[in-house]
Amino acid sequence: MADFDVDLFVIGGGSGGVRAARIAAGYGARVMIAEEYRMGGTCVIRGCVPKKLFVIGSHVRQELEDAAGFGWTVPPASFDWATLIANKDKEIARLEAAYTANVEKSGAQIVKCRAVIEDKHTVRLLENDKKVTAKYILIATGGAPNHGAAIPGIEHVISSNEAFHLKKLPKRIVIQGGGYIALEFAGIFAGFGSDVTVIYRGDNILRGFDEDVRTHVRAEMEKHGITILTGCTVTKVDRHGEDFTTHLSNGSSLASDQVMFAIGRHPNVANLGLENAGVAINPANGGIAVDHFSKSSVDSIYAIGDVTHRFNLTPVAIREGHAFADTVFGKREVRVDHANIPTAVFSQPEVGTVGLTETEARAQFSHVDIYKTTFRPIKATMSGRDTRVLMKLVVDGATDRVLGCHIVGDAAAEITQAVAIAVKMKATKADFDATIALHPTAAEELVTMRTPTARHVRQAAE
Ligand code: FAD
Ligand code: NDP
Repeated sequence: MADFDVDLFVIGGGSGGVRAARIAAGYGARVMIAEEYRMGGTCVIRGCVPKKLFVIGSHVRQELEDAAGFGWTVPPASFDWATLIANKDKEIARLEAAYTANVEKSGAQIVKCRAVIEDKHTVRLLENDKKVTAKYILIATGGAPNHGAAIPGIEHVISSNEAFHLKKLPKRIVIQGGGYIALEFAGIFAGFGSDVTVIYRGDNILRGFDEDVRTHVRAEMEKHGITILTGCTVTKVDRHGEDFTTHLSNGSSLASDQVMFAIGRHPNVANLGLENAGVAINPANGGIAVDHFSKSSVDSIYAIGDVTHRFNLTPVAIREGHAFADTVFGKREVRVDHANIPTAVFSQPEVGTVGLTETEARAQFSHVDIYKTTFRPIKATMSGRDTRVLMKLVVDGATDRVLGCHIVGDAAAEITQAVAIAVKMKATKADFDATIALHPTAAEELVTMRTPTARHVRQAAE
């Protein structure tokens, strides 16, 4: 490979790019990785990690409220946004340094600047216009928030990027969107004490999730004081000093101190020089088109993670980056299996889900059994909190295989990670039944639901 400056040039130091660089370097490849912002990428710097820290911090409100039922007298609590931000920034800086050190330890060289593609084997560093030739180029540039239509006042609207750096906690915030980020930040701001209104264009939040999950989580969020307005969009935002008026398509308007949009993310494919090498875009989703090995339309160029717009989750980007390095430098072809990826929405209460929804299962299987329960969690019996947990299993009635598991409630994400192993292993409902319950837990309901709550059998003619 000596004809090239390096064996691998990775564009993007996020979850996927870092994993690919480290594993490839471990196989002996000469690796260079460019990052234009901060090492660690979206997940570490302005995604999963700071978000989860905010979720944990904002949930303290509920802990304090629930304490009285257990005999605690808690003095009036106060919250300081500036302390939260400073401590979060410190932790993110620590992680950024750890990412940098780990990449360097692996032998890969980091260049802190934007890189663009010159041709099939050449990358240009914008910092000094230097050209670097590479046997392989890996595009791992991630994604960025969508801003939506150019409505009047769009310049006043923040995205999740800015939400991590607000100077003060908004007293009132309007959040447009009904997906992961909108609902997670709705819970965060409400927990810290903001008055939150969610604006969603459809008839119910979390499109694509199981219908029972959608209904349950919405009701629970509303019980926690979050206002969810459906069937409308933001048409205009006026600013008056520190205040905003958000105008809605239904003719009403709302006053707030911040307006945030969380209306999806687009893959970072612009101004990357893709056309210089002939890298094709997938017309279906706007991401880089790749095959099962993450190879693009050009043999020497691969793409992984959010820039391919397949499943925009950190563990998926990491797995794709690892599989790329194994395949190209480790002499063993590894294909990422994208089936049964577990996922969680860290709303409050949180959602954990793996496998098929009831609707998907009924479209694909002729006999589907549903096991569903809602119950008051043990903590609520003493705290007096008005809340219920939802647990649901979707089962193939013909083979008894568990096709999907959907949970709304405390620890839903933690439970789902473990259940995902069973679903991936094609466990049957009989396997769940044969597992002795762990008592007293919420998760024990998953192995004690004996009778289907619904049975859907499609007749041959249907
Ligand atoms: P990224 O992590 O986005 O990394 C891409 C990197 O490339 C960036 O650092 C960028 O600066 C750099 N870059 C771009 N162009 C260039 C260039 N030309 N030259 C040099 N560098 C460049 N996923 C989960 O699984 N769980 C969660 O809880 C979760 N929470 C999230 C919360 C938020 C608010 C957001 C926004 C996302 C969240 N995600 C979560 C999604 C997750 O962050 C992404 O799926 C993941 O980061 C994708 O990794 P990646 O390597 O593809 O891209
Ligand atoms: P999502 O795709 O989850 O949600 C986007 C929301 O915005 C949907 O409710 C969508 O409505 C709505 N929307 C889209 N376009 C418009 C528009 N033009 N006007 C009004 N509303 C619109 O995207 P997010 O931005 O919340 O997050 C991006 C991705 O990041 C997620 O899909 C996920 O892959 C990842 N992520 C993962 C997290 C996790 O794992 N916990 C947390 C945060 C992000 P509709 O449904 O009708 O299309």
